[in-house]
Amino acid sequence: MKSTSAVWHPFTQHAVQPEATPISKGEGAWLETADGRRIFDAISSWWVVTHGHRHPHIVTAIKDQVDRLDQVIFAGFTHEPAEKLARHLIAITPPELEYVFFSDSGSTSVEVALKMALGFWRHCGEKRSRILALEGAYHGDTIGGMSVGARGVFNAPYSPLLFDVERIPFPSMEREEAALDALNAACRRGGIAALIVEPLVLGAGGMLIYPPWVLAEMKRVCKTHGVLFIADEVMTGWGRTGTLFACEQANVTPDIACYSKGLTGGSLPLAVTLCRADIFEAHYSTDRTRTFFHSSSYTANPIACAAALANLEIWEREPVRERIAGIARLHTKGLDRFREDGRLTNVRQIGTIAALDIADSDAGYMADIGPRLYQGFLARGLLIRPLGNTIYLMPPYCSTASELDLVYEAISEVADEIE
Ligand SMILES: *Cc1c(COP(=O)(O)O)cnc(C)c1O
Repeated sequence: MKSTSAVWHPFTQHAVQPEATPISKGEGAWLETADGRRIFDAISSWWVVTHGHRHPHIVTAIKDQVDRLDQVIFAGFTHEPAEKLARHLIAITPPELEYVFFSDSGSTSVEVALKMALGFWRHCGEKRSRILALEGAYHGDTIGGMSVGARGVFNAPYSPLLFDVERIPFPSMEREEAALDALNAACRRGGIAALIVEPLVLGAGGMLIYPPWVLAEMKRVCKTHGVLFIADEVMTGWGRTGTLFACEQANVTPDIACYSKGLTGGSLPLAVTLCRADIFEAHYSTDRTRTFFHSSSYTANPIACAAALANLEIWEREPVRERIAGIARLHTKGLDRFREDGRLTNVRQIGTIAALDIADSDAGYMADIGPRLYQGFLARGLLIRPLGNTIYLMPPYCSTASELDLVYEAISEVADEIE
């Protein structure tokens, strides 16, 4: 109870964690503390900041939009930023996704996806209400998001509120067929409305990567059994895995897809759930009970939509893909020195995400190694927030070679300290 702050922070045990560091400025890949220290944002401020903090084009778009329209009810009304954004999203996401539903966080985009799936089957008159999910998944912290996510210490107190989900084993190396068999068996038992997956990499579950062919097979199995395939691209979207969206690498078109985090370049909260036309059409009826009953007060906030449009323009105008490829190359080089290093294990990478585990440590999120690593990095001016004994990097795309050199050097030093 030592703090004078009235703020209750997320995922923070106030009794043991140091006081929150006040940040007063962000620029590019750097944060500046109130007392003038600089911190390199190696995890893009919880995976949202893609091009860097305060990208000028996004800042300008926000300022311009504020001068025209700040907010308007989105039922019965619409506005140009939302209309333009929806059209643009349809054009760049996998084909067959034809409708866009707005919300304001990754978690709510998942709730929307689950409700779309269940609404679809009800309106089709088929008894399908069960959801399949991958073991170890993370889909957000609302009740539905927690229900389809992994169960554990994070949600144990709330388990009475969570609905039951069937788990498919994570397709780890040489266990891919087992996972696909389990998916097939679950689909065959019937009653399945949808499978929800994080394509190619489980994020909060520990940066666990699986290959595109498995993603493609999962989609194929779902299609065979008429099970809707929900891609939660909240983290993987906007270039994180090397392509704009992870599903592209497997040539997969989901039936429903969730995007958030980098949607506004990390500047403002916004999320979208895209779906195929038949899902929209199942709700389209003169029968008002078939309405899609979902909204949040700030659905499609115009300022957030303007920021997202600016993000899409940056993707068109600037060499974002080249930057991403550059970061990926720097990761490969940076990780190289740890491949034969006994202190670290499970060295892995996908696109702009690099991860490695401290060897021989008590794994698990609650192990005290995570906070010790975090403090070690922070003392060196780096924001890196390990998941248990997993150190991962997910830097903004404006990061330079010398900045990433600093990070990899620090990983080596901190690994020594921990030993
Ligand atoms: C972060 C995340 C979410 C939740 O997004 P919020 O904006 O934090 O609610 C959902 N799914 C995945 C895969 C995520 O990484």
